[in-house]
Amino acid sequence: MKKHNYSAGPCILPQEVFKEAAQGILDYQDSGLSIMEISHRSAAFVDVMEEARNLSLELLGLQNKGYKALFLQSGASMQFLMTAYNLLNKKAAYLNTGTWSSKAIKEAKLFGEVIEVASSKKKNFNYIPKNYQIPSDVDYFHCTSNNTIFGTQIKDFPQVDAPVVCDMSSDIFSRELDFSKFDLIYAGAQKNMGPAGTTLVVIKEDILGKVEREIPSMLNYKVHLEKDSMFNTPAVYAVYVSLLTLRWIKNNGGIAAMEKRNNEKANLLYKEIDRNPLFKGFAEVEDRSAMNATFNITDESKKEAFDKLWKDAGINGLNGHRSVGGYRASMYNALDIESVKVLVETMQQLEQQS
Ligand code: PLP
Repeated sequence: MKKHNYSAGPCILPQEVFKEAAQGILDYQDSGLSIMEISHRSAAFVDVMEEARNLSLELLGLQNKGYKALFLQSGASMQFLMTAYNLLNKKAAYLNTGTWSSKAIKEAKLFGEVIEVASSKKKNFNYIPKNYQIPSDVDYFHCTSNNTIFGTQIKDFPQVDAPVVCDMSSDIFSRELDFSKFDLIYAGAQKNMGPAGTTLVVIKEDILGKVEREIPSMLNYKVHLEKDSMFNTPAVYAVYVSLLTLRWIKNNGGIAAMEKRNNEKANLLYKEIDRNPLFKGFAEVEDRSAMNATFNITDESKKEAFDKLWKDAGINGLNGHRSVGGYRASMYNALDIESVKVLVETMQQLEQQS
């Protein structure tokens, strides 16, 4: 039975990528060796790393614009502190839109003054705050483009004089933006890019070198840049599969085509959430995420029947995060519209049963 994988991350990846990745595990480029058992200093792996870094910049439209890409380890959570370690001299501005922003704020406070310019916490993060002021003298402004848990997404980014740092872990490569408005973008691989284990960091180089503190080598972006993302042994397999996924994005029309597909999927599901009296969306309509749709059932007595319907239909990973409850449908790049149609059908079947 075909599975429809709505997991929030790790999550669905393109099936074509798995086939190629399996080949790379067994016998990389007819070398008789696995990609996992060759040196990261070998020409074969250096090529993988270089192509992954270049292709990331190419897809984001950031080639030849002063940006460099890194594939680091320790997840996006490490970037919460690494960004502050490298950029926070005196004070920084943060927009608090959910669990991940809150965690980034907690880490940044270890390094200097943090100004929370706005927060949607009082409404359990069901919207994106707007019309807030960002002081002109901050070292940088930090935001989270997509809130994986609460299902909200920033549609309009503020105009900021200071450098802009953005956690794009759950919507990187999913929609077109003017990425040159951002000075540092980070994203854990395990949503739209590949397996857990590596984190893409895209940096405009001229924002570095402005803090007074000493930075340990492993946490210093400059050190990683000087070594072309090979300061220590990179997560070779995760970078390799990320490269295959980046190629898949490019071969399937790039970010523009991903965005079109993602909007079609999201429109289909949100239309049913709004039409069907048995369901109610969690996030404010204008801030709804195209990646993670959060919704609740309006009649709890029907929950058991709905859970059976979607599980019987081959749907996986639909339960909401504990801080929101209800359901969360994560519709990353690799999810087909057919899977969304199956989910919508189960929602309609529940209505017909009632
Ligand atoms: N930021 C966002 C938006 C996320 O969705 C996640 C994880 O789901 C993280 C950060 C943390 O990522 P990691 O587990 O790679 O540290």
